[in-house]
Amino acid sequence: MRAETKISGIVQGIGFRPFVYRIAVENELVGYVRNRRDAVAEIVVEGKEDKVKRFLNDLKKKKPPLARIYNVTTNYSEDKNEFEKFTILKSSENVEHSGSVIPPDVSICEECLSELRDPKNERYNYFFITCTNCGPRYTIIKGLPYDRPNTTMQDFPMCKFCLREYRAPSNRRFHAQTVACSKCGPRVYLTSNDGQPMEHKDPIRETGRLLQEGYIVAIKGNGGFHIATATTLSEPISRLRKVKHRVHKPFAIMARNIEAARSFAEVSREEAELLTSYIRPIVLLLKSEDYYLSELISPGLHNIGVMLPSTGLHVMLFDGVREPAFVMTSANPPNQPIVTQNQEALRRLGPVVDFFLFHNRTIAQRCDDSVVRLHDKNPSVIRRSRGYAPEPVCLKSSVDDCVLGVGAELNATSCVLLQDKAFISQHIGDVENLETREFLKEVTRHLMRLTNSKIDVIACDLHPKFTTTRLAHELGDQLERPVVPVQHHYAHIASLMGEHNVNEMVGIACDGFGYGSDGNAWGGEILHGNREGFQRLGHLQEQPMIGGDLATLYPLRMTAGILHGTVDIEEWLLSNSNRFPHGEKEVEVVIRQLEKESVPKTTSCGRVLDAVSAVLGICYERTYEGEPAMKLESAATKGRNILNLEPKLASNTVDTTILVREVFSQRHNHSIADLACSAQCYLAKGLAQLAVEEAERLGVKAIGFSGGVAYNEQITQTIRKTVEKGGFKFFVHGLVPPGDGGVSFGQTIAVSLSKW
Ligand SMILES: [Zn+2]
Ligand SMILES: [Zn+2]
Ligand SMILES: [Zn+2]
Repeated sequence: MRAETKISGIVQGIGFRPFVYRIAVENELVGYVRNRRDAVAEIVVEGKEDKVKRFLNDLKKKKPPLARIYNVTTNYSEDKNEFEKFTILKSSENVEHSGSVIPPDVSICEECLSELRDPKNERYNYFFITCTNCGPRYTIIKGLPYDRPNTTMQDFPMCKFCLREYRAPSNRRFHAQTVACSKCGPRVYLTSNDGQPMEHKDPIRETGRLLQEGYIVAIKGNGGFHIATATTLSEPISRLRKVKHRVHKPFAIMARNIEAARSFAEVSREEAELLTSYIRPIVLLLKSEDYYLSELISPGLHNIGVMLPSTGLHVMLFDGVREPAFVMTSANPPNQPIVTQNQEALRRLGPVVDFFLFHNRTIAQRCDDSVVRLHDKNPSVIRRSRGYAPEPVCLKSSVDDCVLGVGAELNATSCVLLQDKAFISQHIGDVENLETREFLKEVTRHLMRLTNSKIDVIACDLHPKFTTTRLAHELGDQLERPVVPVQHHYAHIASLMGEHNVNEMVGIACDGFGYGSDGNAWGGEILHGNREGFQRLGHLQEQPMIGGDLATLYPLRMTAGILHGTVDIEEWLLSNSNRFPHGEKEVEVVIRQLEKESVPKTTSCGRVLDAVSAVLGICYERTYEGEPAMKLESAATKGRNILNLEPKLASNTVDTTILVREVFSQRHNHSIADLACSAQCYLAKGLAQLAVEEAERLGVKAIGFSGGVAYNEQITQTIRKTVEKGGFKFFVHGLVPPGDGGVSFGQTIAVSLSKW
C-alpha cells in the first residue's frame, strides 16, 4: 500500500523528519519525508497495509514533544515501487498550504545540559550546544523551509564531527539545523565598552565574575541584547538606572536555578513548572519575607520578575560566582525595540555598560523575553514573546476571511487570524516612533510570509491618530483591502470572546486609556458584545484630567480634579506643592484650572487607581506605564477592606468621587495597606455589580474581565466572587495578554465575530 500524507502544524524545526524516518524504518516502510516552503511536512510511504496504518497512527501518537499537528491529509493508492529505502529528501519549494508555522525558541534541554557539563563530551563547555529538541528557532529563521541555509546558522559550515552527527539517523542531532560545536559554530568574545577585544580564554565565566564584582555588561542572547548586573549589590543597579534614565521601572532578573529563586521569592508548584518549562518566561514572583536582593531591582513592588537560564551561555555565567541571580533587562533605548546588532549595540549601549559579551551569529528575528504572572493557578500573560511566538492561539471556530490586526499604540503586537488559528507576533513595544513602527511593519510582513496568508481585511484601532491606524491604511492601500476600525475596549472584550469561543458576553474592560466611540477617553467600561458588534452599557464616572496628559504623569492632578467641589483641597494641594515639578506656582495653575468647564474627561479605571495612589502618598509621579496603580496593588496585598464601602451606582455609572473622598478623609485613621485594599475592592465590586445587573437584564450568561487592570489580582478575584455569586460564568484570559498586547488579536476577532 502507498500513502501520501501532508501534515500542517509545527512540524519543522522540532525533529519531526528524523522522527518520521525512525517510525518508517521501524515499520519496514520505504519512501521519503521532506519539508516544504509552506512549513508543511510531506510524507510518502510504501509497504504492507497493516504497517502503513500503524505508521500513520504512530505519527500522531508518538510525535516529538514540541510538534503540533493541526491537519493531516492522506491519499492511499497502489504501490509504485519507486523506492528502495526510506530517506529524508531535500526540502521542496512547494507552497500551497497556509497556516503551518515554525516553532518558537526552545530552552536548553536536559541532555544538552548534561553534555555541556561532561568533560568527555565534544561539546563540553560549548555555549550554543543544541539538538533537534532545543535551541533557537524563530530568532534564527529568515525564511522557509526550515533548513540551515534559510537560517543565520548558514554562516557556520558544519565541521566533520557535527556533519557526521547531522547525518546519522540514530543520533539525536540527526537533521538538527542548529548543530554546531566550538570548532565550527558561533564564537563568543568579551570587549570593553568601546569594542576593544579582551583576550580571555573563558569569556563567559569571566563575564560572570565581572558582574559579581559590580560591573555592568551587555550580553548578546538569541533574540537581542540584555544588560546585566549583580543583584546583591546596589551600586551597579543604581548606576544603571542613572545612565538609562530609568528611575523606578522594575528590572527582570535571571536566577541561577530554581533553588536560588526560592531563596528570595515564593515559588508555587505552578510557578516552578512555568519557570522550568521550555518557554522559560519571566515569572512575577512574590518577594519572600527574607528577601535579600537589592531593593533597587523592583522598588516599591511586592513582586519581582524572575527567569531561569535558557541557553548554555546563560547557564555558564553562573559557574564561577556566588551571585544567586543577575539583573537581566532588555537592552532597548527608551521607547525603542531591543538592540540586536553588534555595531548598533556598541553605539547605543557603549555609554551605558562597562563591557560587552558578544557572539558572532546574526539575529534574524528580534524577540524579547516573555512575562507571565499567576493569579492563584491561572496564568496571566503580560508579554507574549520568546518561547511563545509565533505559535498560534487555536480557536474553536473557524473563519473564512483572513484578518490582520495591527494592535493599539502601546505594547503593540500584530496578529494574523487564519481559519481557526491566530498568529500573534512577538512583543513590538510602544509604536510611537520610526524604529518601532518599522519593526511592526517588518514583523507583520514576516508573519504573513511564514503563514503563507493572503489578507482579506485589516483591523486597527478607532483612534484616528495612532501610528498603527496610519500603518493599517497604508497596508490597505498596498494590498487593496478594506480597513476596519475597532473600538479599543471592544477589542479587549472580543479577544476574551475569541479565546473562550463565546459569542455573547457582558465584558468589563479596564485600562489607562482607549479612544471611545464618542471621541472621549474611555478606560472603565462595561460593554455588551455579540455577533452584531458592541454596545456600551455603563462605565466609571467621568473625571476631569487637569492639564490633560499631565494628569497621567502626575496623579495628584487627577486627585485634585476628582476631589474638587467635595472637600476643600486647596490647602492640602499647597502643602504638597513639593510633589509638583514646578512647586507652588504649578499648584496655583492647577487650582485655577479646577474652575474651568472645558477640561478633558476620562472614565479610566487606571486614572482613579492613580489618584488613590497619590492620596495615600504611594506614588506622585508616573515614571513608567502603570506605576502608581502597580504600587497601589503592592501596598494593598497585606491590607483588609476596612472601609467596606457600598458601591454607588447611578444611571449606569460607578461613582468614583465618593471613593476618593472617603479614602482622602480617612487617610489618617487607617493604614495605607487597608485603604489601598478598600479602594480596589470598591472599584471591583462597583464594576461587577453593574455588569451583573446588565447581564441579568439582557439575559446574558457570560461576564468577562479584560484590559491592563486585569493584571491586578485582588481586583480580578473580587470581580470573580461577585460575578460567580450572581450565578454567571466568569471569563478571564489564559493565553492572550489582557493588556494591549492582546488588542491585535481582539481586533481580528471583532471583525470576524459576525461570521461565526
Ligand atoms: Zn538539546
Ligand atoms: Zn562542529
Ligand atoms: Zn487597553
